[in-house]
Amino acid sequence: MRVQDEQFGMIVDYEDIRQNIHKVYDYIYPEYNLLAATRVATEYAEDDPSISITVGASALAYSILIAAEEYELAAQLKDKIFTLGWTEEHCGSDLLSIRTQATPMSDNPNERNFHIKGSKWLINCSFHADYHLILAKTDPNQDGPRSLSFFLVPQSSCKNWERLETHVLRGMVLTKFDIDGPGVQVGKLGHGLSIIQRMALPSKYQCTSMGVRMLHGSIPAAVEWLGEKRIFGSNPLQFSNVFRQMYDITLKGALYDFMFFRAAALNENGFLQFHGTTLKSFLLLRINEVLSKNWLTVGSKGFVAQSVIGRDAIDSFVLPVFDGHYTINTLMTAKHADRYLGAELHMDMEEQLHRLSQNLYEERPGSEIEANPKEVRKPPFFSYAGYLNQFGVPLPIDWEELIQKCREITDEIEVLGLGSEPEYRYKTGELIHWLESLQAACELWKLTHENNYLNTIVIQYNGVVNHVNTIISEGSLSAEFMLPARQVPISGDTSDPVAFLKRLLNVRAMVRQMPAMSAGD
Ligand SMILES: Cc1cc2nc3c(=O)[nH]c(=O)nc-3n(C[C@H](O)[C@H](O)[C@H](O)COP(=O)(O)OP(=O)(O)OC[C@H]3O[C@@H](n4cnc5c(N)ncnc54)[C@H](O)[C@@H]3O)c2cc1C
Repeated sequence: MRVQDEQFGMIVDYEDIRQNIHKVYDYIYPEYNLLAATRVATEYAEDDPSISITVGASALAYSILIAAEEYELAAQLKDKIFTLGWTEEHCGSDLLSIRTQATPMSDNPNERNFHIKGSKWLINCSFHADYHLILAKTDPNQDGPRSLSFFLVPQSSCKNWERLETHVLRGMVLTKFDIDGPGVQVGKLGHGLSIIQRMALPSKYQCTSMGVRMLHGSIPAAVEWLGEKRIFGSNPLQFSNVFRQMYDITLKGALYDFMFFRAAALNENGFLQFHGTTLKSFLLLRINEVLSKNWLTVGSKGFVAQSVIGRDAIDSFVLPVFDGHYTINTLMTAKHADRYLGAELHMDMEEQLHRLSQNLYEERPGSEIEANPKEVRKPPFFSYAGYLNQFGVPLPIDWEELIQKCREITDEIEVLGLGSEPEYRYKTGELIHWLESLQAACELWKLTHENNYLNTIVIQYNGVVNHVNTIISEGSLSAEFMLPARQVPISGDTSDPVAFLKRLLNVRAMVRQMPAMSAGD
């Protein structure tokens, strides 16, 4: 899957990718199947993150053609590698300040052929690609939301590639390069930003799926190694300190895995963006943390180059950054805070769990790539406390009080005039993400009836508490600090810790072994 290249050393095998990438595109067009496309990409990559991301980046670029409704091109170009040609060295998230320019080839107002001139930076696959989806401006003096357009630029219009080696994904080849040649308009002129927004809705799920696959590889590998190695006459996993750390990592890994598939299952009815932004920021940051902790706990074995444990911990760091910085995603969630915390709509627990147990892990065609960003701006949130009160969680958590506390915090932020500060918008977005992860933990427990997952609820609750207390502390707010909750004793037979932890990690099996919930159960 990797080849020794004379110029670049050991890199992903672009020729093999070119021959196989249509298998991923086939799940993007003519029918869009989000989970199947990500599964096929990671299966092809055999979970090598450099290959997954190379294929994933090309698939995201290909999906720009769909978001721009360029179906003929999408049908014709299934055996090509594409790049996402957005970033320039001087700008990252601030795409409106790009400088690459597109000049029409004639005076015809309907001209679709342009001369593209500019430079792109840190672009994956750019030396080996067949086509680039280049973001450019027809008028470099404009910087409004209608100033950006997409162009399909062949490799022959590019030059001066210079490899940029990175700390992550070292099998990929990223370059900076110049463009000076013809390109064809993709979508309508001035619609670049709205095409990105449309394509970005499902792309957040694709990017996160790679983080989730890393959990699947790294945590069991750590559990197995710690259960097999012998030091001081025992397996490290038998030491209570190591076991407790791996128990914590396992519970978090199980929840994060569940949160991904839950988001994919519940992303209808306007929730596409809300769940996607939670995944792309909150979940991927938590995945970084848990993979790092996993690596530290396992020790030296994780540092060996062949080990997935160290590799995935390092590579996971890029996931919340590229293809939309996590900050931007968190700021998007902050816009929902008032509606999220104040929602009164009743959500029936049985109905929601039924929906989940029907849709979890199902690879079904959907219209995520065609969703209009405007339609996902107001998801119909429901009463948080009203929903969780139905769960009968046997922990001393008062859901009404929790939501009341969060509202007290956001109200005080407003009263102090801090509501429009990026710092507080970010903190508010994070607060909503923590609350959503706590809700997911309750669903995980209820769907599996697994008592150890009560501790997942406690961990997420304490995450909310910690976040609220940080806001109070850093902002010197007058609100009272919150108290954390106590975990319940570990339940079940832990005499075989490897089997015990691996069972808890296998959320899919645990959900499936429960009789499917039917509304009214
Ligand atoms: C390995 C790798 C591969 C990549 N591949 C590609 C590729 O193939 N194609 C491509 O086009 N790009 C690619 N990129 C670039 C990537 O998309 C950018 O990293 C991304 O756009 C974010 O930009 P940035 O990292 O420069 O950070 P910036 O956006 O410059 O952010 C810097 C800091 O400012 C903060 N910030 C940013 N905006 C705001 C705001 N509005 N309000 C408050 N704070 C803000 C952020 O939190 C961050 O802390 C790649 C990057 C990496 C690392």
